[in-house]
Amino acid sequence: MAKVSIVKVKDVSKDVSRALKLAGAEIKKGDVVLIKPNICKATDKRGTVTNVDVVRAIVAWVRKMGGKPVVGDSPIPGNPDFESASGYSRLKEFRSLLAFPAKRIRLKKGKALKSVMLSGVNYDKVISVPLMKTHVQALVTLSLKNMMGLVPGRAKHELHKKGLHQSIADLNTAVKPDIALIDATWCMEGNGPIGGGEKKMGLLIASTDPVAADTVGTIVMGIDPMQVRHIVACEEAGLGTMDFEVVGEEIEDVASEFNLPFTYKSRPNILIGKAREFFASRVHVITDRLAKVTVNHDLCTLCRACIATCPEDAISVKDGKLHIDTDKCVRCLCCIEVCPESALRYSGIL
Ligand code: SF4
Ligand code: SF4
Repeated sequence: MAKVSIVKVKDVSKDVSRALKLAGAEIKKGDVVLIKPNICKATDKRGTVTNVDVVRAIVAWVRKMGGKPVVGDSPIPGNPDFESASGYSRLKEFRSLLAFPAKRIRLKKGKALKSVMLSGVNYDKVISVPLMKTHVQALVTLSLKNMMGLVPGRAKHELHKKGLHQSIADLNTAVKPDIALIDATWCMEGNGPIGGGEKKMGLLIASTDPVAADTVGTIVMGIDPMQVRHIVACEEAGLGTMDFEVVGEEIEDVASEFNLPFTYKSRPNILIGKAREFFASRVHVITDRLAKVTVNHDLCTLCRACIATCPEDAISVKDGKLHIDTDKCVRCLCCIEVCPESALRYSGIL
C-alpha cells in the first residue's frame, strides 16, 4: 500500500514542504533533480500551466535537502513562446528540454512502443508536477501522463498514434517519476488540456508512488480510476500500486466532481475505447477509418494554432475556411488539444 498526502494550500511554500514530508519524499545530497511541470501552452489563463509558485517551492525544497534542481519541459509543437508562460522565463532553474539532444531509448517491456525518443537531459531523480486536468484523449493529466513532456516536440505524436494509454505506461517504464506532486491549486475541467474551464481546488497531492498519486488525484476529481486506462496499465506494468493510504486531508472532505471532456461523456465510449486501445497498440487504427476531426466554423477564428501543431500537415485554410484533409489525418487529436476556441470535434471512439 502506498502513502499519498493531501494538503490544503494556504501558504504554497510551507504546504509544498508539508505535502512532500507527509508523503515520505526524500532525495540524496548532491542529487540532480529534474522538476517536470506541465507547461503545455504559452498562456496566463489559470488552470492551464503548472502554478510556477508550486514549482518555486519545490526548487527551494530540493535545495534545502542538498539537491541540485533543474526545471524542464518541452512544449506542444507550434508553441514557441512557452518559456514566457506564467512566469517560467523568470525562473533561473528553468531549461527547455528541447535544448538537450534527444536520444532514442529501447523499451524492453513496451507493449505499444518498442522505443521512444527522450530528451537527453541528465538527472538522478525526477519530480513530476502536473496540473490537475481532465483531458480529451487521456481522460486525466496527472503525474504519469505528464512524463510525455520528456518526449521532445513532435516525437510525442508517436505515442498518440500507437494507443495513448498503453504508450504512457510504456514511456513510464523508462522515465517513471520518483516523486509525484500534483498541483491542484487551480485546475482545468472539461475539454483539457487547453480548451477547458478553470476550477479552484486549493490542494496539493504527493506520493513517492505516481500510480497511487494519480489514483487518488482521479478520485478527488470524481472519476473512477479504473476508467483511466493508463493508470491501470501502469499498475499492470509494475510501476506502482492503485492501493493507497491517505495522510493529511480526507478524500471525501476535498473531492469535487470535474466536468468530463466531450470525448468521455458517454460510458460506452470508455468501454469500446478499451478494446480500441488493445487493437491500436497492435494493428494501427481500425475504428479510426470511420472517424474524423470536424470544424465548427462559427467558433473558428482562423488563429492557425492547429495548423502549426498538426504533425501531418493535414490542416490548411481554403477559401477563407479551415480545411482538414481526412486522408492525411492520423487522428492524433493534437489540434483539438491546442484549439483555444474548442472549435474542433472528433467523431470517433477513444
Ligand atoms: S480550429 Fe481552433 S486552433 Fe484551428 S484555426 Fe480555428 S480557432 Fe485556431
Ligand atoms: S488534423 Fe489529424 S493529424 Fe492533424 S493534428 Fe488534427 S488529428 Fe492530428
